[in-house]
Amino acid sequence: MKISFLDLKASCLEIRQELDEAYRKFIESGWYILGQELEAFEAEFASYCNVQHCIGVGNGLDALHLILRAMNIGLGDEVIVPANTYIATWLAISHAGATPVPVEPNEKTYNIEPKNIEVAITSKTKAILAVHLYGQPADMDSINEIAARYELKVIEDAAQAHGARYKGRRVGSLGDAAGFSFYPTKNLGALGDGGAVTTNDGELADKINLLRNYGSHVKYLNEIKGFNSRLDELQAAFLRVKLAKLDKWNAHREELAKYYIDKLTDITELMVPFVPTWAEPVWHLFVVRHPKRDILKQHLKICGIDSLIHYPIPPHLSDAYAENQWGIGSFPITEQMSQEVLSLPISPHITHKTINNVAEVLQVYTKTG
Ligand SMILES: *Cc1c(COP(=O)(O)O)cnc(C)c1O
Repeated sequence: MKISFLDLKASCLEIRQELDEAYRKFIESGWYILGQELEAFEAEFASYCNVQHCIGVGNGLDALHLILRAMNIGLGDEVIVPANTYIATWLAISHAGATPVPVEPNEKTYNIEPKNIEVAITSKTKAILAVHLYGQPADMDSINEIAARYELKVIEDAAQAHGARYKGRRVGSLGDAAGFSFYPTKNLGALGDGGAVTTNDGELADKINLLRNYGSHVKYLNEIKGFNSRLDELQAAFLRVKLAKLDKWNAHREELAKYYIDKLTDITELMVPFVPTWAEPVWHLFVVRHPKRDILKQHLKICGIDSLIHYPIPPHLSDAYAENQWGIGSFPITEQMSQEVLSLPISPHITHKTINNVAEVLQVYTKTG
């Protein structure tokens, strides 16, 4: 048995003809940056997220970084961020010149715990950057309520959650602005790097438009010191093809997740994901917990099953943030998660049968091991 974590080629092959056609159209257009494909994708993705504006950018990190810049958040400012996230969420804050202020997650949902946000707020706090981790929306009403009371901006890191819903509303529309990544492994992935900002704030959208293109709307008129971070025409063309499949692919992920949960719930020591009633996750990752995670991972590997860890080193313990001198024990919930989480295979092109094989291996292991 050989079960890979994610088969990216399979999703390309399913839509091969449409991708080929998009590529042919792209070549013949004679226009390769900031053109019609990007405009069309931006309109389609804005509509999908139920927001007024979408601005394509170079990647997910840039999307978050440019949002912070556009909000004039920088040196001397603090931004509240989950302690347990992919380091890119923190890097966006650091690159804007601001300081990430980590807070611990809720122990059941793994998303930022609103109760912990409030105690972390200081006179320097400017924004809350919430992450919809593993594809499950954070508790946005509680977050927005706190933000309103303290006059803070709310930014969503939606890099893992394309299409997820919170109380029926799509992520990307739940704060002042949201950053998406189209890195190939994401639920909506390009065939290369890509990202986007979504927002209902027209002024902010205008500023992101400037920032992604050297600070200029009109060639050679540079209003501000901008960056070069655009979503390529070719990637936009591919993303249009894939956006049309996103709901179908997410629905398949959901079926697999439900199947896993059903099969794995009663296994001792193994903790399956918890889904609050208001959340409609898109299962970017299916993350279980086990006190002897490394041994379990090794056992799966021997059985031919790939698994991954998201994430083995929390940002506060990474060398990149050594200057803050957060020692072990600074964020115990996050640190324990990093020791115990394990992501099992889930993707639009894995079958129920394969998931059943993984579940059976886990069932047998925990009876004998
Ligand atoms: C992937 C990811 C990012 C960064 O996206 P890139 O396109 O790789 O820059 C940011 N935040 C989270 C939570 C991610 O999973």
